[in-house]
Amino acid sequence: MKQRPSFPARLGVLPMGWARAAVAPVARLQGLGMDSLAHRQRMVQLLHKQGVRDAAVLDAMGSVERHRFVDTALATQSYEDTSLPIGLGQTISKPGVVARMVELLRNGAQGKLGRVLEIGTGCGYQAAVLGQLAQEVYSIERLRGLHDKARENLRPFRLANVHLLFGDGMVGYALGAPYAAIIAAAGGEAVPQAWIDQLAVGGRLVAPVQNRSAAGAAGAAGQALLVLDKTMDGVRQTLLEAVHFVPLKSGVA
Ligand code: SAH
Repeated sequence: MKQRPSFPARLGVLPMGWARAAVAPVARLQGLGMDSLAHRQRMVQLLHKQGVRDAAVLDAMGSVERHRFVDTALATQSYEDTSLPIGLGQTISKPGVVARMVELLRNGAQGKLGRVLEIGTGCGYQAAVLGQLAQEVYSIERLRGLHDKARENLRPFRLANVHLLFGDGMVGYALGAPYAAIIAAAGGEAVPQAWIDQLAVGGRLVAPVQNRSAAGAAGAAGQALLVLDKTMDGVRQTLLEAVHFVPLKSGVA
């Protein structure tokens, strides 16, 4: 087997064999006439420039084919650092935000994370990224249409460790608890207690939450990224930069 280079050594000249073998073979982007790997490598270089330093995260972002998670008409934009519509009023998060959150979630961990809970599967892209970095991923979606779409999108990747669940993620998923890490792709007023209960001691949660000081121009409450560490002595919370996520809603539809 070919050895992968240690990343990010010589970022601009990553050899072709670099993409992770477990992910479906690299496809040509329909209509672009260009190799999607080259697009991902450029995206990864941008993420590195933005400050993402965790080699495992950059590796995962470089291997998951994001263009497979969006409509064909949007495929040409799929490696830009932008969120895109995925139907039912929801969006696939910006690659920069996915990488940032997942890097925070790993918190410098060596090797794979244990069990991870994701709230808000959406199109399944972030679940696929997490699938490269965690032993098991439980991902919940409250909209049936997107849950089905994610299942369809993820099928060719054959990620046996990614488990998609249809339900209200506000209550977490007790059957998989305790989790080494919990990540939310939708923002509520506060972090539901169920998530904290289901987080392992020593575990970390990363989620957008409503935050007054991140208020927009109209005075509406903005969102900020929350990092919550569960320790033997309780929880430690840190609010980071402002973010824009779709709202966390209760119930299913
Ligand atoms: N990680 C996703 C981002 C999807 S957007 C991706 O890579 O595409 C966030 C998703 O959270 C939406 O699909 C929305 O329906 C879902 N969501 C909002 N509230 C939820 C809840 N209580 N439980 C589960 N999913 C929820």
